[in-house]
Amino acid sequence: MGRYNASVCRLCRREKMKLFLKGSRCYTPKCAVERREYVPGMHGQGRQKLSDYGVQLREKQKVKRIYGVLEKQFKFYFRKATRSKGVTGIALLVMLERRLDNVLYRMGAAASRSEARQTVRHGHVWLGDRQVNVPSYAVSPGDTVEIRATDKMKERFKAFYEQNKEQKTVEWLTLDAANLKATVKRLPERPDIQMPIQEQLIVELYSK
Ligand code: SF4
Repeated sequence: MGRYNASVCRLCRREKMKLFLKGSRCYTPKCAVERREYVPGMHGQGRQKLSDYGVQLREKQKVKRIYGVLEKQFKFYFRKATRSKGVTGIALLVMLERRLDNVLYRMGAAASRSEARQTVRHGHVWLGDRQVNVPSYAVSPGDTVEIRATDKMKERFKAFYEQNKEQKTVEWLTLDAANLKATVKRLPERPDIQMPIQEQLIVELYSK
């Protein structure tokens, strides 16, 4: 699988907005977007006028980067969204939101989605009595997500949860922070996804 190994802050700077890829640092004045409000690279401070295609491409890249999904998988989600009932762009976002790594992040059990992905991969996450180590697993209403980690990790998760519960609390999950558990009450809906995303631009891009 391809991996992006350079600084993730460059990705935020490229999209000219915070994508919250680095955990607690994103909420401090050390955030690279706050310190350098221009895109990285030699011509980053020059005038940049994007074409319609450019605007659509940037929107797609932004969403891929927020959820940490690579192009091939993102296209797979899009194709699946086109086959679903309802609005394609919203169906796409809902699918991304249902990913298990995103659920951990929303629970406040990980500082970033990449940390959440690693927690899943390392076998610390259980759905009911079943261990799941697939970060892209799509949760469904009624699922109970539980972190069974070492005591040290649990303490760290709990401390992080306490710090971030205001930012991460989501309506579609019922949290049991003391036991590092969450139950999926219902599927996420568009208003639950509060990042400034214009999903119709992604639909336009892939519909060309
Ligand atoms: Fe993005 Fe966080 Fe880096 Fe800021 S600190 S640029 S929000 S990853």
